[in-house]
Amino acid sequence: MTSTEQQPSQSSVNGASAAKTLEVTEPATGRTISSVPVLDRDGVARLVERARAAQPGWQALGYKARGDLMRDMRAWIVANRKRVIETLCRESGKTYDDAQLELFYCADALGFWAKRAPKWLADERERPHSPMLAGRKVINRYVPYGVVGVIGPWNYPLVNNFGDAIPALMAGNTVILKPASATPLSSMLMAEGMREVGVPDDVFAVANGGGGEVGGALVDAVDMLHFTGSTEVGKRLAEQGATRLLPLTLELGGNDPMIVLRDANLERAANAAVFGAFQNSGQTCISVERVYVEADAYEPFVAKVVEKVRELRQGVPGTGGTVDVGAMTTSDQLDILDEHVRDAVDKGAKLEAGGLRGEGPGQFYAPTVLTGVDHSMKVMREETFGPTLPIMRVADEDEAVRLANDSEYGLDSSVFGGDHAHAERVARRLESGACVVNDSLVNYFAMEIPIGGMKQSGVGARHGRIGIQKYCQRQNLVVTRFGLDRELYYMPYSKRNTKLTELMIRALYGRGARR
Ligand code: NAP
Repeated sequence: MTSTEQQPSQSSVNGASAAKTLEVTEPATGRTISSVPVLDRDGVARLVERARAAQPGWQALGYKARGDLMRDMRAWIVANRKRVIETLCRESGKTYDDAQLELFYCADALGFWAKRAPKWLADERERPHSPMLAGRKVINRYVPYGVVGVIGPWNYPLVNNFGDAIPALMAGNTVILKPASATPLSSMLMAEGMREVGVPDDVFAVANGGGGEVGGALVDAVDMLHFTGSTEVGKRLAEQGATRLLPLTLELGGNDPMIVLRDANLERAANAAVFGAFQNSGQTCISVERVYVEADAYEPFVAKVVEKVRELRQGVPGTGGTVDVGAMTTSDQLDILDEHVRDAVDKGAKLEAGGLRGEGPGQFYAPTVLTGVDHSMKVMREETFGPTLPIMRVADEDEAVRLANDSEYGLDSSVFGGDHAHAERVARRLESGACVVNDSLVNYFAMEIPIGGMKQSGVGARHGRIGIQKYCQRQNLVVTRFGLDRELYYMPYSKRNTKLTELMIRALYGRGARR
């Protein structure tokens, strides 16, 4: 029996009643690998109550003690890396190397937030600008919300679930994580690790169960929500949360363009396009979903991409370095992907590679390259979220930019060009919350700066200062140390004070414009 082929212990699901269970299937083989107890609405409410009771103690521990626990958790993840990677591979169908990248991110993030939290959440003292505040102490301070809900997707069961819980915890919140129903096991493993390293009870809990019931119950009970998932569900949660003004951040879908300029290093651009489109079987929110190539570079770029894609090894995740493209995590997404490819072919696109579902019980789809595509096709307009790479010839960079921006989404994008200053100018014209020049996907690791969506791709961001400050309320704190008995603006109002105030306004602001 492997580590994932087991009934999770009662404690590992944080008090879920075992009355209802969730079957976890291995997408690469179709086998059921685990059965996980799920919560109902009352169970969620009880979990939130316990998390709320645990929060003041967790906050009172302070940054140093919380940071030490996060670093202990980092050591735990590294010590248990084989088990973590195996769990990720089995529940999601991703390759060993894709899972290893998730582990890399989380290990890095634990230390990063442990170090940055005290700096980015420290009191911000400002010198007051207004004469009304002369001599006062003016402070912006950060106060954790209390109980934060994190609802995450199945494509990155570690990064976009536990990874988002780390800054919330470092800020002093307790966290309840609801992973996607398809991939609960790695989150439960993180809960086990947190307990083993000594994180107090009820500080980090996993709430398993269906989106509507358990996710919905969380939205009704937590003090702040961070959601990663589809734009459709994100909008629904925003609507539900609005009835009680729930603060939330939303990391949603994308349809990310790549632009290849005529002077680009085509070998690098082709390698990055293949990585950006097929890593994690194309199930990355910031995957390269469509490519626009300037006419002069089009033929050689396509030839290089097709040659590389035909060499990709697809299969059941094995040991590191043996499989390039894994399985699709859900059968629903496999159907969407197939429908998008059929739609493109029906409208005249040419299949340069792939275009077929795998045979057998595993949820595989052959890495697919399409040419002859245009914006009437779903592969170019919607999020396909699978191993596809549609490539379109464009006359020049203006056409590339226009088509790249012709989307309801604005998550990530990339530009390849030999003159990087020129490529950067093109990048600045793109309507996406992130853009990377001469690479793909790597900007997710730039944790010092925010990354989040424009347009329908989200509200708020992760990473950077805002990536932890969003988990806090702000308190505007003004301290009067040397107060007079009466301020000029106190009651009762008098003609004398009205006159004095007027003189002050004229002296300070009345000297005309532009001076
Ligand atoms: P999804 O269907 O929106 O589900 C995301 C999470 O929401 C799951 O845990 C799901 O639970 C839960 N959920 C569903 N309905 C709910 C409801 N009514 N109330 C509360 N929770 C609910 O998304 P997905 O298919 O898992 O993930 C793929 C999408 O995520 C893609 O669009 C991708 O681009 C996006 N994504 C975005 C980012 C980013 O950073 N922008 C990162 C990764 C993924 P169940 O699984 O139980 O239904």
